Formats: sequence, C-alpha cells, structure tokens
Amino acid sequence: MKRPLVTRPGRKIRLRDIPTDDDAGLVDKPAARVRLAEELERLRKLQHLLYADNRFALLVVLQAMDTGGKDGAIRHVMSGFNPSGCVVTSFKVPSMEERVHDFLWRAHHAVPPRGSVGVFNRSHYEDVLIVRVHKLVPREEWQLRYRQINDFERMLSENGVHILKFFLHISKGEQQRRLKARLKDSTKNWKFSEGDLFERKFWAKYQDAYEDAINRCSTPWAPWHIVPADHKWVRDTLVAHAMRLELESLNLRYPKPLSKAALSRIKVR
Ligand code: AMP
Ligand code: MG
Repeated sequence: MKRPLVTRPGRKIRLRDIPTDDDAGLVDKPAARVRLAEELERLRKLQHLLYADNRFALLVVLQAMDTGGKDGAIRHVMSGFNPSGCVVTSFKVPSMEERVHDFLWRAHHAVPPRGSVGVFNRSHYEDVLIVRVHKLVPREEWQLRYRQINDFERMLSENGVHILKFFLHISKGEQQRRLKARLKDSTKNWKFSEGDLFERKFWAKYQDAYEDAINRCSTPWAPWHIVPADHKWVRDTLVAHAMRLELESLNLRYPKPLSKAALSRIKVR
C-alpha cells in the first residue's frame, strides 16, 4: 500500500497536481476492507497501550470540502476503538461564547488528555478556510493565524500530543456525484444542505485557502497527510494506516510491572 503524501516544511504542494482518485495500491474495495480490518485490529491493541502508557495523546484533525467524507472516515476508522479512550469533537459555526474568545480557545479545550485519542471533525483550520473565503474577519487578522496555529500545534506536541492532520482530497466531480446521491436516496436526504450548494460555488477559493493552510502549516511537528478520497475504501484504509504507524512510532509500553518482592508482600484476601 502506498502511503498518502505527507507534506514537508518548505516543499509547497499544489492540490490540482495531486490525484483524488488514486487507489494507493489497494486495488479494489474488498481488498481495501480486508486491509482496513487488519489495521483496526492493530489499532485496538495500540489504543490500549496508549492508555496504559499514559505519556501521549493522539489528535487526529480531519478537514475536507463538503461531502469529502469526514463523517464516513470517523465511522469506519473509529469503529476499531474503545469509546472510553476517545472523543470526537465537531466544530460548527462558533457559538456566542466561543466567538468572544480567541479562535483557538475551543480547539484547545477539545484537545484529548494523555492516554487518549481525540478526533477533530473540522477544526481550528476553519478559521483560515471558511473565515477567509467569506471574509468573516479582516485579512490582517486571519493572516496571523497560520503562525498562531503553528505555535499552538508546537506547544501541544511539546506536551505529548501527537498531531495527525488529514486533508481528504476529493474532486469537484465527485462532490457533485455525492450531492446528487444525497438527493436521490431518501435515506440520505437529511445529509443534504442547501448550504453545501452555496459553498460549492466557492470551490476554487476553498481550494486556494486549503492550499495555503496546508503549505503554511506544514511543520515538522504537525505535517499534513493528503488522502486521495474519491474512493471511500481508499480514504478509510489510508487514514487507519497512518494512525497505526503514528502510534507504533511512539514506542508505547506498559508501565513497569511490580517487583517480585512487592508482589510477595501483597495479599489479596
Ligand atoms: P457541518 O460540518 O456540515 O455540520 O457544518 C458545520 C459548518 O460550520 C460548516 O459550514 C463550517 O464551515 C462551519 N464552521 C466551522 N467552524 C467555523 C468557524 N470557525 N467560523 C465559521 N464557520 C465555521
Ligand atoms: Mg455539511
């Protein structure tokens, strides 16, 4: 299996040069689902170890255009996890309370504690995406946010939070197919929002905003993974695979067992 493109500081990417329909060497859906099941099995064990080890947290940031598959990726990938050790946070239009704080306040609040996995369904990146596209704050203000995000993510990583950022990359044609599918299938109607049609008009502006966010916020401590996401089975398997590799790289271990002497003193009656 090919890994998704992982961005590197100073190496600019152009989204239009990166395929959205790559199969990443997974060939077809059945093969990818078998591979996903294997990844999930390993993730289950690693999550247990992450909890026992209690030194690190894993923060997964999911960003995508509308219909890009953030919810689907969460449903498939997180099905391998013990719910006690993970929290999924969806970032919506900021509430009154959130709006009177700095833009990172709500993100910081949702960062997972040590030993657990946190997933951001959208994130602090919305503050340089929709906010920029629709000019919700002045340019001078959002321009500063790239550095502020890098500083924030650096601080987290220095405090044991490992950050995995995924951009689920779909084509405009695939978005059209998915929007149509939501209208055609009555059980998917609820997912359709007129707002998505409105945002679709800004496709090019969003792609530019994403490109900048990815290029300006690719750091050694929190690079982006660009996941070809036209095929849902590729998307899910690549995300699970990257999470598994990240957790494996932490050299997680169980805390030191009790000594023989200590064990001999303890009597369970
Ligand atoms: P959904 O993810 O489909 O439930 O939609 C959530 C909506 O909230 C999306 O349109 C986001 O762009 C929007 N949103 C999330 N964060 C922000 C933010 N910081 N400012 C403005 N809109 C936001
Ligand atoms: Mg939506």
